[in-house]
Amino acid sequence: MSLLTALQDGRGDSADALRIDGVALSRERLLGVATAVADRAAGAPALAVLARPTAETVAAVVGGLLAGVPVVPLPPDSGPKERAHILRDSGAALLALPAGERAPEGLDALPGPDTLPVDLTLRSATSYPEPGEDATAFVLYTSGTTGAPKGAVIRRAAVAADLDALAEAWQWSAEDTLVHGLPLFHVHGLVLGVLGALRTGSRLVHTGRPTPEGYARAGGTLYFGVPTVWSRIAADPAAAARLRAARLLVSGSAPLPVPVFERLAGLAGQAPIERYGMTESLITVSTRADGERRPGSVGLPLRGVRTRLVGEDGAPVPADGESVGELQVAGPTLFAGYLNRPDADAESWTDDGWFRTGDVAVIGEDGFHRIVGRASVDLIKSGGYRIGAGEVEAALRDHPAVADAAVVGAPDDDLGQAVVAYVVPDGAVTGEQLTAFVAERLSVHKRPRRVVLVDELPRNAMGKVLKKQLLQEPTAGGAGHS
Ligand code: ATP
Ligand code: MG
Repeated sequence: MSLLTALQDGRGDSADALRIDGVALSRERLLGVATAVADRAAGAPALAVLARPTAETVAAVVGGLLAGVPVVPLPPDSGPKERAHILRDSGAALLALPAGERAPEGLDALPGPDTLPVDLTLRSATSYPEPGEDATAFVLYTSGTTGAPKGAVIRRAAVAADLDALAEAWQWSAEDTLVHGLPLFHVHGLVLGVLGALRTGSRLVHTGRPTPEGYARAGGTLYFGVPTVWSRIAADPAAAARLRAARLLVSGSAPLPVPVFERLAGLAGQAPIERYGMTESLITVSTRADGERRPGSVGLPLRGVRTRLVGEDGAPVPADGESVGELQVAGPTLFAGYLNRPDADAESWTDDGWFRTGDVAVIGEDGFHRIVGRASVDLIKSGGYRIGAGEVEAALRDHPAVADAAVVGAPDDDLGQAVVAYVVPDGAVTGEQLTAFVAERLSVHKRPRRVVLVDELPRNAMGKVLKKQLLQEPTAGGAGHS
């Protein structure tokens, strides 16, 4: 089945099937514009799309997919260097952007790309043969949380398998109106949030910035958000109450703090379900719409997805609800490899074809998955102990005057790594008080050696805490308690 069937067959279309950036389009009109884009893009090695949340962006992405040209979303707010890297690395010779808009800075150094102005009055009805399942749908760049962004090659078959498995798990259908305000250059906002709506035939409302008021006003049945969005909504009872009419709230891209889960369960009448995934594997594990919502758990693997835990010694780790191991994934939603990064490919795949996520997890006997964090930054090795940063963060968040917390392992001569906490206070509280507070909740080796109070935590557009950046701050090292 074509990736865009629901868009192409025009069933249940409406004048505002897509609402974005103050513009409303029917699916028929979107398809007409997208086909005009395809007419220009056909045959290009790849189509870069300046991925601001606009109707032009959606039309350009669909146009690339129609023509069977790999689509490369370009983060609009990235610096000129990152943009130039993505264009050069992906070999995109064409850059789609809204008509009348100048190409952003940083592209002049490149031999290309030519620009492809997208105008919503364009129309074409050319018919394109369906590209093969193995054809590349996207080259998606990872968030760059742990290093330079890597281009993941995503085949059409992986996108289709993922969206169908999610539609089943979330009972997502043409009856739904999906609301989100996420960036359109990652899996979450683009592959799930745009293609998911086009494949299921649901309406899509993009709120621009994902504010509590924007979500409250949108009148959707299905809402996607990153934890920072849910946390803001949980702090806004009036906005949260208006989500009571929704069928399903979904959180992903980073861990959803348990207090946010609990507050929304009260205020919005339902806690968000959580899903786990990454650029390389799309979405692989999720709580089901009709399943148990367990705080701190991302639920069960999607249809067709297999998961396993592996220890540092390469030995299997049992799914016993306690043992921690690296999460590895296999199945139809996996990417086809990194672009121009044989080193990263060699590190990421096992000999028997499983993908090493780099995330540490626990799997229960009932199959429920709990993501502990990233092996590289969230697993702290201190004085011979292995400490999950998330457990310490959760203990800190239990304090009423803690708005946000991130825990890292700072280099330490004595312990190897020392547990250091960065806390955003909400009210008057001192580092000493917090240290005393968690001392009642955590065993000695897990207690932070230092608590640093900060105004905010460095986060990227998806709400992921940039722990590498925290570790580089002068306050990360050094001795003493604060
Ligand atoms: P890079 O690979 O460049 O360092 P990144 O891994 O942040 O960046 P993404 O592919 O966008 O880039 O993010 C995937 C990661 O996000 C996962 O590996 C995991 O660490 C985290 N993640 C996603 N969903 C969840 C979730 N529900 N709970 C906890 N972590 C999550
Ligand atoms: Mg990653």
